[in-house]
Amino acid sequence: MAKKIILTGDRPTGRLHIGHYVGSLRRRVELQNSGEFDRIFIMIADAQALTDNADNPGKVRENILEVALDYLSAGLDPEKSTIFIQSQVSELTELTFFYNNLVTVQRLQRNPTVKQEIVMRGFSDDDSDNKAGTPVGFFCYPISQAADITAFKATTVPVGEDQAPMIEQTREIVHKFNSVYGETLVMPEILLPDNSACLRLPGTDGKAKMSKSLGNCIYLSDDAETVWTKVKGMYTDPEHLQVSDPGHVEGNTVFTYLDAFCKPGHFTKFADCFVGRKSSFTFSSLDEVKEQYRKGGLGDMMIKNFLNAVLNDTLEPIRARRKELEQNIPYVYDVLRKGSEEARKVAAQTLSDVKAAMKINYFDKGVLDELIAAQQKKYSE
Ligand code: ATP
Ligand code: MG
Repeated sequence: MAKKIILTGDRPTGRLHIGHYVGSLRRRVELQNSGEFDRIFIMIADAQALTDNADNPGKVRENILEVALDYLSAGLDPEKSTIFIQSQVSELTELTFFYNNLVTVQRLQRNPTVKQEIVMRGFSDDDSDNKAGTPVGFFCYPISQAADITAFKATTVPVGEDQAPMIEQTREIVHKFNSVYGETLVMPEILLPDNSACLRLPGTDGKAKMSKSLGNCIYLSDDAETVWTKVKGMYTDPEHLQVSDPGHVEGNTVFTYLDAFCKPGHFTKFADCFVGRKSSFTFSSLDEVKEQYRKGGLGDMMIKNFLNAVLNDTLEPIRARRKELEQNIPYVYDVLRKGSEEARKVAAQTLSDVKAAMKINYFDKGVLDELIAAQQKKYSE
């Protein structure tokens, strides 16, 4: 049977937030523990982070450890998953160099995620007068992502919805490579979250995406007090002014987070949150909470209190593991070093297959003899 392999990762541009958790990290841990996969590779994409942080290598370097701490705290297990640092696998840059020839500038310009991210980062089309243009490396990062995915022969890439155009780009490169040079690369499939609230978790400010770059995040490592301050300040329904007013659930970030994090057991465990001075409720499902909110009478503070309890229920064990790991930093670096060595072996094999397919493996065993024989024949005729 064909092997089932996962490759996914994150940019070390900050600590991981609850958007990463529901969009990809939680799924990775479940898949890791399902035992259904032959190999799991989790990449800390420092080289990719440098494409738009070239002048801030310190930030990237520091956040490699933060992301690794978040991974291990969230339940990634180095015995089951290979956690590695992208820049330590130099084969990836070689693959990127060859894949560059299979993609047009126009195709990259059409990539909707790259387009959006260019706007978000304020890169201008015009780089005169000291304005920041788009770095070539940033513009081309979908190609380097194709190298990351194919180097590990990944069949499955669990990511948030923003990554869909990247996986599409990788699939096009695989198709092109295999049709030009012969069947070599494995065609990957995207694995999106099955809960629609998790496809692209909005920020605490209600903006479309929780993102490190937008400063609208609840971090996995935030302490309980910080989480409560952020939850209290969250965007809800601007038309729900009085507790008695009917409220909107759609587009209400507090409910989106509940959709992403609420579990059936939470209604009994946190029943107290719905006991108030003026009114009390008993709910047994999120649908019932939503129905009451739509009718009116259920205040934002009550809902926020419940969300806070629900979030902390997930975050508390993660925080506790992090506290322990923070006392054992050499162990964390050891995981990364060993993971990077292992990853490198796998990527080297793929690079060797790629070079053979492209007929640029001149000095491989047997190939040189054939080349000499062919050239000698040409010159002796
Ligand atoms: P940056 O602003 O540096 O790009 P980011 O917050 O977008 O950071 P990435 O490292 O680019 O994070 O994304 C890592 C993974 O997390 C990807 O699979 C991405 O789809 C997923 N992800 C990031 N933000 C969200 C979100 N708000 N909702 C769901 N998934 C997300
Ligand atoms: Mg991103």
